[in-house]
Amino acid sequence: MLQQTQVARVVDYYHAFVTRFPTLRHVAEAPPSAVTEAWAGLGYYARARNLHALAREVAAAGGALPAEPAALRALPGIGPYTAGAVASFAFERRAALVDTNVARVLRRAFAPALDPKTGAGQRALWAIAESILPRSGRAAWTHNQALMELGALVCTARARHCTRCPVRAHCATFAAEVPLPARHRSS
Ligand code: SF4
Repeated sequence: MLQQTQVARVVDYYHAFVTRFPTLRHVAEAPPSAVTEAWAGLGYYARARNLHALAREVAAAGGALPAEPAALRALPGIGPYTAGAVASFAFERRAALVDTNVARVLRRAFAPALDPKTGAGQRALWAIAESILPRSGRAAWTHNQALMELGALVCTARARHCTRCPVRAHCATFAAEVPLPARHRSS
């Protein structure tokens, strides 16, 4: 539901949906029209169709959602970000994830010259995300949450709050703008 849609708009739909379909098995057993109907008003109906196709595929394979990003990506409607998010947040796998917020933080911190709109730029951002993952899945869970929060609250699209940023000592954008003595004074 959160693909292309903000949390505030999704919350009520999410609760109504999981009340009607508490498990993936309930989604799989419902006719496609019932799932689309429960989605009414949220838009981007391909997501509802993909969810129904995914539920049926998972049910046919035994009913358990896979935990690894590669297996998740093979399911309908699951892209690299969703695969990484589900693997990390639901299964505590050591998986990277790059959404818009994370991409902005990684670019500013490690590669300010990189163009995130290009395929090469996206591949480079995913490579950076992989390279800084902690060793354990549990630590990766916290790390990924922290990166997303950093992008949502501190290193935002509108403003960079560098003076209260916990990673400024390692940030290339901050280093390029603030002279060395001042950097030490502010940390
Ligand atoms: S120091 Fe500034 S530019 Fe760097 S990650 Fe933090 S908020 Fe973003």
